[in-house]
Amino acid sequence: MAGHAGKMNQAQAVVIIAAELRLFLRPGRRSGPVAVALDGTSSLGHVVESLGVPLTEAGRLLVNGAPAAPGYRPCNGDVVTVEAVRRPQQLASARFVLDVHLGTLARRLRLAGVDAAYVNDADDDALIEQANADRRVLLTQDRGLLRRRALWLGAYVRGARPDDQLRDVLDRFKPPLAPWTRCPACNGPLSPIAKAAVLPVLPPGTRRTYQTFSGCRNCGQVYWHGAHSKRLDQIIDSAVRAVSTGANG
Ligand SMILES: [Zn+2]
Repeated sequence: MAGHAGKMNQAQAVVIIAAELRLFLRPGRRSGPVAVALDGTSSLGHVVESLGVPLTEAGRLLVNGAPAAPGYRPCNGDVVTVEAVRRPQQLASARFVLDVHLGTLARRLRLAGVDAAYVNDADDDALIEQANADRRVLLTQDRGLLRRRALWLGAYVRGARPDDQLRDVLDRFKPPLAPWTRCPACNGPLSPIAKAAVLPVLPPGTRRTYQTFSGCRNCGQVYWHGAHSKRLDQIIDSAVRAVSTGANG
């Protein structure tokens, strides 16, 4: 076996990734513990990230059963356990900024009354700046963005469909909901408006059908809801269910 000495001397750690985080691993690595070659300088956090798992998604990191910081330098033979972030994840205030690919999700969060900043042309630096300046959680499906050192707090959004994305964000953060209090178009606050005040701008059918109106104090958009906004009501209903069920914390 002398010919293999070099290989055998390579320091290794074994990394056990929580089931909820295995979607981030390369397909061939998803079934069990992963052996990682150590270079002697990389931190635990770097080792986890190099496997594809953003640290924003990791909960406790354990080394040989004891909690360890991301800055810990793994040694040969270490067994590392990476837990998923605990749900619901506590936030001082539930405020978010969404990356440019999540416009539909942003509108749905706003519809449910969640503070969700979004502009469709924000570049990565602008997103990070806004997240940090306003203490907003950056929601994205871009793992590279979540790895940026400057970022205060971010979260990977699971799901390809907006329905699934909304459920994921609400399940993770359980933000307080306040349906119909926030402008889906601009995130501004809505105020009730008397029907008489909006009559001139309403299409005739709307005048008869709707009784409840609100206006955006930021952009001036007028909204009405009632019998004909079933789809929006369904979105809100499922949102309310998502935060009120599954007390898995
Ligand atoms: Zn508005």
